[in-house]
Amino acid sequence: MKNIETMLHEGSIEIAKPKKILITDLTARDGQQCKLATRVTTDDLLPLCEKMDKAGLYAFEAWGGATYDVCLRYLKEDPWERLKRIKAVMPNTKIQMLFRGQSIVGYRPRADKVVYKFVEKALKNGITVFRVFDSLNDNRNIEVACKVIKELGGECHAEISYTKSPVHTYEKWMQYADELLEIGPDWISFKDATGIIMPLDTYNIIKGMKEKVGDKIKILFHNHDMSGTAIMNHMMAIFAGVDMLDTVLSPLAFGSSHPATESVVAALQGTPYDTGIDLKILEEAAALTGIIRKNYKKYETEYGGVNAKVLIHKIPGGMISNMTAQLKEANAIDKMEEVLKETPNVERDLGYPPLLTPSSQIVGVQAVLNVISGERYKMITKEVRDYIEGKYGMPPGPVSKELIEKIMGQGGKPDYSKRPSDSADVNEWDKAVKELGSLAKSEEDILLYVLFPLQAMEFLKARESGQLETPEVTPGTEDMIETRAGVIENTAPVEFDVTYHGDKFNVKIEGVTPNQEEGKPRKYYVRVGGKLEEIQLFPKVEAVVGGKAGGSKTSAGSASSGKRRIEAGDVSAPMPGKVAKLLVKEGDKVTKGQTVAMVEAMKMENEIHAAADGTVKAVYVKVGDNITPDDPLLNIG
Ligand code: MN
Repeated sequence: MKNIETMLHEGSIEIAKPKKILITDLTARDGQQCKLATRVTTDDLLPLCEKMDKAGLYAFEAWGGATYDVCLRYLKEDPWERLKRIKAVMPNTKIQMLFRGQSIVGYRPRADKVVYKFVEKALKNGITVFRVFDSLNDNRNIEVACKVIKELGGECHAEISYTKSPVHTYEKWMQYADELLEIGPDWISFKDATGIIMPLDTYNIIKGMKEKVGDKIKILFHNHDMSGTAIMNHMMAIFAGVDMLDTVLSPLAFGSSHPATESVVAALQGTPYDTGIDLKILEEAAALTGIIRKNYKKYETEYGGVNAKVLIHKIPGGMISNMTAQLKEANAIDKMEEVLKETPNVERDLGYPPLLTPSSQIVGVQAVLNVISGERYKMITKEVRDYIEGKYGMPPGPVSKELIEKIMGQGGKPDYSKRPSDSADVNEWDKAVKELGSLAKSEEDILLYVLFPLQAMEFLKARESGQLETPEVTPGTEDMIETRAGVIENTAPVEFDVTYHGDKFNVKIEGVTPNQEEGKPRKYYVRVGGKLEEIQLFPKVEAVVGGKAGGSKTSAGSASSGKRRIEAGDVSAPMPGKVAKLLVKEGDKVTKGQTVAMVEAMKMENEIHAAADGTVKAVYVKVGDNITPDDPLLNIG
């Protein structure tokens, strides 16, 4: 076929025949994931869902991806409940979820049985459309999901994920389309999650795919807008014959997100590609989305807008905000530029995986570690080891030989011929049933635990004891009168950075007990480096520093008043996280470099090694404890 550059030179560009362009709106999943860190609660989403049910969309994406994780981890909501409640207010619209192939909604491949169970329950609770992708475009990872979805009556949209690299040529995209034709999904979704594809490439690839699949399978285009070209790409996709576009309502649109639903609908209105969608309803839905954005403003990041740097570093917005959070937690936000520079190096070492979950996390966390530990691959995450060994699938391009040798020893050779799920634990479902016992009330509960064991256990226990509390959303900062530093007289700072013996800490006064009894100290709740601490002090002089006295939460989960200081022989984690595994106990002999614990940080499991030979003198933490770099995990003497 002729590419568009040739056609433009000849003045012979081909334009698709008239057709109704279908629209899938992603506001409740991808939109809020890109712009508001997925923090919007079900209660706040429902009015929007109800409104969008009347819009005439092909589908509405409201679940999957980070939703599941954030519901459990931060919102203390049951993601399955969310799905049921959304379906209840959207009887007329297909609900769509994003599905990470064999990894489902988690971060590593699972046994086929778990995939089957998950699809079955997702369908039962309200999902119709499954967008299935594999972050390496290893289509062996989407095959099982696709078959199960079709077998159980769902609709499978298999995705091809775009990236730019020396190994991702036009021929490679066509090869992926061929592979999908073999598998036979209902749709092919061509997606650029980073937002780096350009209009003419969009035309060429979509046209090539359309010619390949003919009338057999429809094609949709999903394009984040980081480089600001997405809406041009949309037009070129239409000219190339695309059948559907993905959009997000304007308050959460563009930049790290997608072109606005209203903009695309308006642009096509009255043309041969009219979407048939009512702009009036979209306007009302956009107003509801505007309220959400306002209430969740604190989750917006500076990386939400169009960022031309993406054209150089090629890092998706979601990943940048993750890395920002990780660097902030590690008190190293000043290293952001270095991390952005290191990321493409890690990408190259790993054979150019498209930067999607989980490969975006695998690359991103390793890049962060390479920078904050001061030496490339000084610390290697378990996930990078597994990736190199083929446990995620076949990397798109050749993997760094040095890295292979570092991980597998000299002469080591990964075997990529096996399907990743073949190395998944086939008994994980049965084990979960056993471990949960009466805590699990349904198979949905079991799925929570199989996919997110630590978080689900915490969640299910809290639910069992009636202590499940969704953290309150504080719209804006109404109850705290905040000012810019130094603007008004007689104010004292409530958030500041202090440098103490060369270490920088961010300190935030979160609250204070309301009434000071005479002769008794007052309790202050102070967040130091992101961790809530309780401090008792006798104030000498007090000034009015604005509201929020009293009513502050007690420091549950941070019983840290008697915390020890780091001593010789103490082993600690380089970043804040949660203790996932303890591999030694008191009295055990350990050797230098031995893995003594696993810490879940940045959603990855990180190995913690013994710094020297010795005996474990004490273990200070237990599995599930939250820790910071200042907390000793154990002591080796
Ligand atoms: Mn997306």
